[in-house]
Amino acid sequence: MPPKSLVCKECKEVYPLEALYACSNCFGPLEVKYESFEGRDPEELRRRIQAGPLSLWRYADFLPVAAPPSGSLPAGMSPLIKADRLAKQLGIKELWIKNEASNPTHSFKDRVVAVALARGIELGFETFACASTGNLANALAAHAAAAGVEACVFVPADLEREKIVATGINGARVIGVRGSYDQVNRLCSEIASERPWAFVNVNLRPYYAEGSKTLAYEIAEQLGWDLPEHLVVPIASGSLHTRIGRAFDEFRECGLVSGNLPSMHGAQASGCSPVANAYSEGSDQCIPVKPETIAKSLAIGDPADGPFALELARRTGGAIEAATDEEIKNGIALLAQTTGIFTETAGGVTVAVLAKLAERGAFDDGGRVVACITGEGLKTPGAVADLIDVEEVDAGFADFEALERQLVPA
Ligand SMILES: *Cc1c(COP(=O)(O)O)cnc(C)c1O
Ligand SMILES: [Zn+2]
Repeated sequence: MPPKSLVCKECKEVYPLEALYACSNCFGPLEVKYESFEGRDPEELRRRIQAGPLSLWRYADFLPVAAPPSGSLPAGMSPLIKADRLAKQLGIKELWIKNEASNPTHSFKDRVVAVALARGIELGFETFACASTGNLANALAAHAAAAGVEACVFVPADLEREKIVATGINGARVIGVRGSYDQVNRLCSEIASERPWAFVNVNLRPYYAEGSKTLAYEIAEQLGWDLPEHLVVPIASGSLHTRIGRAFDEFRECGLVSGNLPSMHGAQASGCSPVANAYSEGSDQCIPVKPETIAKSLAIGDPADGPFALELARRTGGAIEAATDEEIKNGIALLAQTTGIFTETAGGVTVAVLAKLAERGAFDDGGRVVACITGEGLKTPGAVADLIDVEEVDAGFADFEALERQLVPA
């Protein structure tokens, strides 16, 4: 079902598959429009997917790219892990962790970059750029290096050092903007209209968004061509959350899976929760906020897809909740101590919200819950450093014995 065009999400105006992202009639966001997914033989589609590479390119039938560039980093096919110990602790009947830290640059952003970069190369671009809260910059720098194209990334200047180093080492030009992510994003929109650059999350945004769908296709395939009953997804711009819903819809249209959409829960940090605020107030408008949170990768105060995430959560019986910095840190520790997975602050947000929802009885229907852990803990070690105690001892056996005696009073 090759994509035919871009289409405006608001007024349905149709555009060619080029580096376009906003409708010239109504300024609405553009998205990729495929030929109908109906009428395909699901058995044949399933065979094509299963015979495909062990990367997100096995779902190429559902992506707006003819073929991946040669030498591309293999993004996707991250493990789906049954988390029985965490489930027991939270009182959840069946819980799975989709661990995106296994991607080449250790976050789910490898997916969006893989697809946007491939399409950008097809369109003839030579310089690739992005506005990033960290992980996107890291992914773009690596995939650009693998493909042999130039990368220039824009990040808030106060970003975690670990993410800046992991990005710069790939040879990308790193520009630290003194301002918030939302200011970085506005600057990039201006640059995109003046320079012949492909911004993966600005003028290539429709293709970027398509990359997120592959996370959902994998969950369905890994559950044996079935949909879970609940998903918990972190929300920054809201793109991942909404695209997961779209991907499940496409698989349902093709007959690859049956049943209803899962309840699409969303997770935000209390210090940047415009979507969770709107959810709890019963509003369908997200009022922009000034981010103040340790979950920097989710710190988007004016989320482009916020209203769509709200609509999807409400339509599917999902809830959008927020977690404080303290709860985020505890969430990181809880996941690590029950599964061995060390996640970054965004994952802490997801686990903290998962715990809140469980506490509130959101999963009491006994359905399967999948929590999306979107990034790696080694990128934000500072967030939890103060939770860790190191016992120091001199190097003699007697010193060690003395230490043990202190711990175990006679
Ligand atoms: C970018 C990001 C998200 C969410 O992204 P959306 O903008 O909502 O698609 C979640 N987790 C991590 C670690 C991220 O880097
Ligand atoms: Zn429009």
